[in-house]
Amino acid sequence: MAVFVYAENINGVYKKAAFEAVSYAKAVADQAGDTVTAISVNPTDSSDLLYKYGASNVINIKDEGLKSFSAKAYAQAVSEVANGNIIVFPHTTDASSIAPMLAVMNGFALITNTLAAPESLSPFQVKRRAFSGKGFMHAKAEGNNVILTVSQNAFGVKENAVSGAEEVKNLSVANEDTKVISHEQSSGKLDLKEAEVVVSAGRGLKGPENWGMIEELANVLGAATACSKPVSDIGWRPHTEHVGQTGKAISPNLYIAVGISGAIQHLAGVNSSKTIVVINSDPEAPFFKSADYGVVGDAFQIIPALTEKIKAIKG
Ligand SMILES: Cc1cc2nc3c(=O)[nH]c(=O)nc-3n(C[C@H](O)[C@H](O)[C@H](O)COP(=O)(O)OP(=O)(O)OC[C@H]3O[C@@H](n4cnc5c(N)ncnc54)[C@H](O)[C@@H]3O)c2cc1C
Repeated sequence: MAVFVYAENINGVYKKAAFEAVSYAKAVADQAGDTVTAISVNPTDSSDLLYKYGASNVINIKDEGLKSFSAKAYAQAVSEVANGNIIVFPHTTDASSIAPMLAVMNGFALITNTLAAPESLSPFQVKRRAFSGKGFMHAKAEGNNVILTVSQNAFGVKENAVSGAEEVKNLSVANEDTKVISHEQSSGKLDLKEAEVVVSAGRGLKGPENWGMIEELANVLGAATACSKPVSDIGWRPHTEHVGQTGKAISPNLYIAVGISGAIQHLAGVNSSKTIVVINSDPEAPFFKSADYGVVGDAFQIIPALTEKIKAIKG
């Protein structure tokens, strides 16, 4: 049972989600008594980074045409080099759009958002997140050919160094459906989906002029900032920060929610965070039911005090 894994990079630099996917693939390969082959498209990072998490082989696809992302073209490229029974992807925005294309192209079963190593390989059965994180299910694949996407921050990044070998594959896959005209990056900001810590705020902050204290707290914690949907709808914050059912789904180690009521649509995007801290002036706010730690009080007093305290501890 050869195990392949798609190691996603951004501008050539491996994402943390890639290391988690390789760690997961290594656990699957250990169960199968096989090795892991990682596939990456136009990486600039060293393959040593992937050997560290258990990839014995790394196939680096070089293809100028794939400088622009297209799920179809990337699926085609991966399909040309992956000849295993199991192909693992991180559940990132890009990879979770490549995986279903590849499953259809190659006639593989697709199981998304897996949370743990497989319960069995034959039949292939694994626990996965379901209903926007409100439940779990145990999914079984028909047949032995399976594509998986690994829920971010669920399995974790696990060092498992092996000696590895690298192969370069020059491809020129047709990438005609879409072209990226320009690429705008929110400079200096942490990627919300990759962040370990997220400080998020909602309508309880009353207006965009009050976000300074949220950004300051995020700065001292090395966190990304997020917001509820109405906050981005009214233009207090950019849409890139909107989390929830209709926004980004995130699963950081720590999610701090400030002045957010905890509507079900908000929870759908954040309830798989490892630890949730809720700060809200209303003790009846629904979010407290999902919180690991709750603070009932006025955000305008708590956030500056918390920031000062953290600065003092760090200092
Ligand atoms: C189809 C659909 C999809 C949706 N998708 C999303 C989504 O993806 N993401 C999302 O977030 N929402 C989504 N929503 C909206 C969602 O239902 C809620 O309306 C929204 O999450 C509420 O945002 P909020 O918590 O910021 O505001 P509010 O519900 O107005 O809550 C504000 C909170 O701030 C607290 N507060 C007030 N003052 C203070 C203070 N001084 N200090 C501390 N706390 C204070 C209040 O007690 C209250 O709990 C969706 C809705 C629908 C119908």
